[in-house]
Amino acid sequence: MAKKLLALLLLKAVRAQDCSGEGTTWGPGIGPPPDGCGPPTGGPTDGGPTDGGTSSGCNNPSCSSPPCAAPLLGDVGCSTVAGTESYNHEMVQKGDSIPTDAHIFGPFEAGFGEQQKGIIESWGCSDASVVYDSEGGKDLNIAEASVAKACSIQLPRIVGETYYGIVGPCGGHTGDYHFHRGFGCLYQESGSHSTKVGVVAGYNLYGKWEDYANNQLPLLDACGAHFGPTPESSSNVYHYHVQDQAPFTVGCYGPSASNGLVSVAECRALYPKCDNDGGAGTAIETHAGTVTYDKFCPCWDGAGSNMGTNIVELPALSTSAISYTAGSGSSSASTTSTSTAATGTGVSTTSTVASTSTTAGQGPTTTTTWTAISSASTARMSKLFSLTAAVFTLLVR
Ligand SMILES: [Zn+2]
Ligand SMILES: [Zn+2]
Repeated sequence: MAKKLLALLLLKAVRAQDCSGEGTTWGPGIGPPPDGCGPPTGGPTDGGPTDGGTSSGCNNPSCSSPPCAAPLLGDVGCSTVAGTESYNHEMVQKGDSIPTDAHIFGPFEAGFGEQQKGIIESWGCSDASVVYDSEGGKDLNIAEASVAKACSIQLPRIVGETYYGIVGPCGGHTGDYHFHRGFGCLYQESGSHSTKVGVVAGYNLYGKWEDYANNQLPLLDACGAHFGPTPESSSNVYHYHVQDQAPFTVGCYGPSASNGLVSVAECRALYPKCDNDGGAGTAIETHAGTVTYDKFCPCWDGAGSNMGTNIVELPALSTSAISYTAGSGSSSASTTSTSTAATGTGVSTTSTVASTSTTAGQGPTTTTTWTAISSASTARMSKLFSLTAAVFTLLVR
């Protein structure tokens, strides 16, 4: 009994560990994380596709005086409901359940190397070495867009019962399953406000809809949250939503120091990695054109860019509205964010594919395709297939 209590206390201590110092007091190139923070040690740290060796419990970080930086790799939060996988993806089979209290990782992958060769080849990439990247720091959408271009394939894509992508149809991967995005199998697309899918540093994370029945998507701050009522609270509370574009879940831990929304600049200030390359960024080739990208900087602006130049403030910061009509575009949002917010139908895919963006932080093509893929209903799935085919046609031209 005493032993059990001790174990419980230890577990609590681990869970309460403040991991917000990543990038300043610990992290890649700085030093090891405090106990209970960060991913399992050794190897590429995200948890690239083969990192599933350690099946450790999820560690939800804390942030005692927000805003705080969220870990760039490893747990940013934990899921609170279970789901069912809809396609085969690597070691996860269709019909398998994804247990509750699974890891929620941030948007970034940790790079690819020899260790991932087999998995990269399984995506249809004949020469895996063309995507080797020891640095990492690309969000899952841009990473997939980059692999798709380098390997001349479409990613993600569905063939029969199999889903090909860096992460699976519900947005996660590996044996020690961790989410990066999506979460479509953890909530229903029905009703009004999406239900809760996880917890991140003391606040709740919900599915992507502010009001599904009325086609409303939430207007979010740079951390990925806003103030409003939720299924758990009739009064306005700060809460996160899953979103189709990066950071997908958490850009940082809010709210702001004055208990308000967190701006793009406030988010960037939390991360030494934002602009640590001198501000020039990295050019990333995708099927839709070249994207200039700030690796390991989880703060995206209203134009879908994570660069420190020409920052377009997020629409949420300049309005009292907490949502906007999906597909309508949200006030000052650019083509990229508008198209990714277009809710699963990918209506603006054609225009984004046709344009060659130089600063957009997202991979518009894969993002939109992904959005469609993440919706569960059969009607939407059939729509998706024709859409995917259309996108693919565009891509291979
Ligand atoms: Zn991962
Ligand atoms: Zn909300």
